[in-house]
Order: sequence, then structure tokens, then C-alpha cells
Amino acid sequence: MNLSTEGLIIKEQNTGENTRLVTVLSKECGLIRAFVKNAGSIKSGKGAATRLLCYSRLNIFKGRESYIIDDAQSIEMFMPLRLDVTKMALAEYFCELAMRFFPEDEPCPDGLRVILNSLYLLSKGAKPPKIVKGAAELRLMSICGYMPDLICCHNCKKFEDENMHFLPQSGILLCSDCLKQSKQQGINTGLGVTKAMRHCIYSPIEKMFSFNLSQEGLNVFERAAELYLLNLSDYDFKTLNFYKMMR
Ligand SMILES: [Zn+2]
Repeated sequence: MNLSTEGLIIKEQNTGENTRLVTVLSKECGLIRAFVKNAGSIKSGKGAATRLLCYSRLNIFKGRESYIIDDAQSIEMFMPLRLDVTKMALAEYFCELAMRFFPEDEPCPDGLRVILNSLYLLSKGAKPPKIVKGAAELRLMSICGYMPDLICCHNCKKFEDENMHFLPQSGILLCSDCLKQSKQQGINTGLGVTKAMRHCIYSPIEKMFSFNLSQEGLNVFERAAELYLLNLSDYDFKTLNFYKMMR
């Protein structure tokens, strides 16, 4: 069976002379692993279009046991990312998130859009990396069934509070009074960061990155999103550790 789809290469491994195994986040089938034969061939352009972080049009043969990429033409290579080791590290973290959370052989169009938009903004330098990272983390978690509840204080239903707190362990908000009573630990996201976090998960995907924060707000925002994701996944992301080491 032949399959024609667009897809982002999120992992590559050399498996033998001239053959590579790649993991593709594809539009039609979600996560798939596929072999690229004659990957070193200069003529076809297939080799280049199936490198890590290429978004390409792919012709794939689906055999009984494996997928084989017959042809590939690149649509977007995100070249500026390849010239910046810190941005590249963050991009690879997004790839690891996709591998960890997205379903196999099942399309996840919203997840793919969030990842592609994140790579695009990072590549263009159009948004601070802390906004791209935190917004992507919150939205991807929401798409994969772990949406935090940021509508109002989880206890008294107050919508706004100067000292609203986000609890990364449970993904809820508590106002200052309810937090005191609960004796739990939270991150003070106040008015600004709370609003930004709501925007990331409740706005349409094309608008989810459209907000700004002060330097201090960015740090709180980034910390809240990352802790929420790490608490949920209970996983040590090597690419995240590398990114933090690089910046
Ligand atoms: Zn409350």
C-alpha cells in the first residue's frame, strides 16, 4: 500500500550502510517509523528531505512489517535552527515531547500544528524562546488529554486574584485565601501570567503564542509550564536537560 503524506522528521538513526530509520510525525498517520534506503544518494534529494527537523512531502510504501520512504521532497527545512545550537536543542525537545505523548499510527493534526508553529517562531526569532516553550508545553499537554483547569480558583471559583497560584502537581488555580487554607505549595502566577497561561490553552492554535510578558513574568510562566509537564510525565527528558545546559 502506498501512502502520500506530509510529515516532520523528529528522529533519525543510521541502521546500516546507506539506510536510515526515521521517526515521522505525519499528517495522515501520526507517529510512524520508516526506513529510508539509499539515504546517501545526492541525486534524489530524498536524503536531505528526510533529515532531522525537515518537514517534507513523503511517498511511503507500507509493507507488512515496516514503512519505507520511496520519495521525499522538503517543504521547510528550518535552516536558522540548524545554525543555533541552543534553538536546535529546544527544537529537539519538542520532537521528544511528540515522541513521548503523541499516538502511533493515528493522526494528531493539532499536535503537529503546534509543533510546526513552534519551530517556525523559533526559527524566525519572532517570539522569546520562553514563550514558545511554555506555550507549546501547555498546549501539547492539553491536546494529549491533560488540560490544566485554569478557568478560576478551583475552590471558591474566583476568576481573578492579584496572588492567584498555579499548582503544577494538580494543574489547578487557587486564590491566595484558598491556598492558605489548603496548605499546598503553588507558583504565584498573579494576574498576568495566569492570563497568559489561559491564553495558551483556550485560544485558537493560530493565536496561542500572541502575548507578551515582562522578564520576570516570562520566568514564572516558563517554570509553571515546565513543572506541570514534568509532574505529569514523570520522565527525564534528555533534550530538555541539554537545552538548559546550553542556554
Ligand atoms: Zn479561592
